[in-house]
Parts: sequence; structure tokens; C-alpha cells
Amino acid sequence: MDETLLMLPGPTSVAPRVLKAMSDNIVNHRSAIFGEIFTETTELMSEVFKTQNQSYLLTGSGSSAMEAGLVNIVKPKEKILAIVGGKFGQRFTNIATSFGIEAKELNVEWGTAVTPDEVKVALEEDEDIKAVTIVHNETSTGVTAPVEEIGKVVANHDALYVVDTVSSLGGDRVDVDKFGIDVCVAGSQKCLAAPPGMAAITLSDDAWKAVDNVDSNTYYLDMKKYRKAGAGTPPETPYTPSVSLIYALFEALKIIKEEGLEARVVRHETAAEASRNAVKALGLELFPEESVSSATVTAVKMPEGVTDADLRGTMRNKYKVELAGGQDHLKGNIFRIGHMGNITYKELAITFSALGMTLKNLGFDIDMGAGVSAVNESYL
Ligand SMILES: *Cc1c(COP(=O)(O)O)cnc(C)c1O
Repeated sequence: MDETLLMLPGPTSVAPRVLKAMSDNIVNHRSAIFGEIFTETTELMSEVFKTQNQSYLLTGSGSSAMEAGLVNIVKPKEKILAIVGGKFGQRFTNIATSFGIEAKELNVEWGTAVTPDEVKVALEEDEDIKAVTIVHNETSTGVTAPVEEIGKVVANHDALYVVDTVSSLGGDRVDVDKFGIDVCVAGSQKCLAAPPGMAAITLSDDAWKAVDNVDSNTYYLDMKKYRKAGAGTPPETPYTPSVSLIYALFEALKIIKEEGLEARVVRHETAAEASRNAVKALGLELFPEESVSSATVTAVKMPEGVTDADLRGTMRNKYKVELAGGQDHLKGNIFRIGHMGNITYKELAITFSALGMTLKNLGFDIDMGAGVSAVNESYL
């Protein structure tokens, strides 16, 4: 059993209850007994999304729901506005392009957040935009986008609002109906703290109207098939789902309900604040502006003269703490501390204790306990 502490922006470690649920025996996925588990799981998913609409489970990682969310509502040759401030924002462009959909990018500097005004201008400039894609919590840069305010802007236009909440749902405030989100997607392995391999998606009435007008050229992710199978007796998925992962997701969602969504978000916010304070106390610099910094992942500039292998290698090999590196042009320039899912004071105390020792090992003349002290202050 590997005892490395995962401080990643996914996958996150899961509760023993969730692991245990996964060991239950397999049942027929087209049976009343599975239909009941499936229905309760999708109902809990809708509660977490905060929507009156139905949620659908896809056997696939978060990207499968991103793909389903886009290609079922937009036709080839039609245009979307893709808000891009990092790797995951870019993924929507890449998905669009692979399906012959035109993606007009609204690029913001990585590490900053898009403003509602920028979205307003972009939408006013172009009447042909069918959908706006945005990432709520840009995991690659540790930045949160103002999705509620942007929702108000998008509501004044014909475009559908597609929001990736893969690394925020269950960790930051997501309110699908209130924010005017037409398509919302999530993955199991981030703040929901279930194992990797499941994705969830919910669509508004407007989005479903678009689905009915699009001859989707995806087979496995055709949402019309998920809607039809989901409305059956018993409710099903069109193809065999990962029965075991649905057991796990069901248990993880029950844990979320027991904790309470708001309490869970506050726990994530506390972890984020403690992390930012600890980073600064160790003399390191945050990558994004603090005002737009994520509640679920903290991105930190790599200190001068230190390589990614030095820092994350020491953390992993000597102290058994796994952090994430930077992606694309940020590789080697930042590292990221995930504090999503089941993270509490305990994991942060270990992480920042190890980070202090790592910096000391690498020759920094610092008070190696300063990070832990800052964490302690946040949890007094
Ligand atoms: C993790 C993540 C995804 C999906 O990645 P998968 O590896 O396909 O699960 C999408 N968007 C964001 C913001 C993410 O953090």
C-alpha cells in the first residue's frame, strides 16, 4: 500500500468508506436494484450541482463530459467563444476543433481571471456565437473565474453557457440554476473525492433544445441516448457503466451530503487560505493574484535556482508528499498544491512541514517551521 500523501489537484485520496463501497459485488446494470442506486446517485449529483434538472453519469474522466457537453449542442462549422486562461480552457478549443467546430478564443494571461466586461465585449462583437465555454477553476494556474457574473452577461445573448466545474464542484460554490449555466460538467476524482473514472453532466432546457437540433457526430457520448436510457424503467445508461465506480461515487456523494455543501466549501476555503499564508511565510511567491486565487489548488512560483525535480522530487522521495508540477509553458516555473476533497488541517500540517524541510535541504536560509506555524494560525 502506497502511503504517499496526495496533495494533487486530482486524483485525490478517497475515504475508506468509498473504497469499501467499491468492493461490493457487481449487479446487473439493467436491473431494478442497480436502477435504484443509479437514481439515488444522479439525484445526489443534481443536489451538488444545485440544479432542478437531471444529471447524467458518463463512464470516462472529466474530459469525456467536456466533450459531451460541447459536441451535443454545437454543430460542425458553428462557432463558440472559448475563454482560455490555462490548459483546461484550451481543452474546449481542442475539442471543438476536432469536431470541426470553430473556436474563437478570448485569451487571458495565464494566472489572471477573465472579467465579465471582456466577455460582454466579445459577445457583442460577434452575433454568431452558439456557446461560451469557461473553466470555473482553472486547475493549471490556480485561478477562479467569476462564473456567476459572467452568467449574467451570457444570459443577455443567444449563446449557451458551458461551464467546466471539474475541479470546483464540491469544493467551491457552484450553483448551476442560479448562475444560469446551460451545461455543467464535473469529474469524480477532484473535490468530490471519488476514484477517477466517472464524469457527470447536467443540461438546461435550452441546452436540450440545442441537443435536439444537432445531429451529433459522437456515438458513445450522444446525450440523446443518455436521456432516453435515463428515463427508462429502471433508469439505465446506454452502455455498460462502471458499476463499481458508481458505488464509489454514490458513497462519496453521501459523505458530501452529510458534511453539507456549504460547510465543505468553507473547509476548502480555509485550506486555501492556510496554504497561501504558509507559502508566503516560507518566503515563496503565489503565482496568481490572491484575489482570484482558487479555493481548491494553490499555484506557487518555483523559487529561483530550484528545479522541479529538486523541489517535487525531494517532497516525494524524502517526505512522501506528492505535489503537482506546472503544465505547458509553466512547466518548471510553478508547482501546485492541491487541497481538494478530504483535505484537513492534518494534511496541510504535513505538507508545509515537508515543504519547509525541502527548502532547507535545498539550501534556503529560512525558518523551516514558518509554513506550519502559518497553517496553525489558520486553524486555531
Ligand atoms: C482535471 C480537470 C479536467 C478533466 O481532466 P480528466 O483528466 O479528463 O479528468 C477538466 N477540467 C479541469 C478544470 C480539471 O481540473
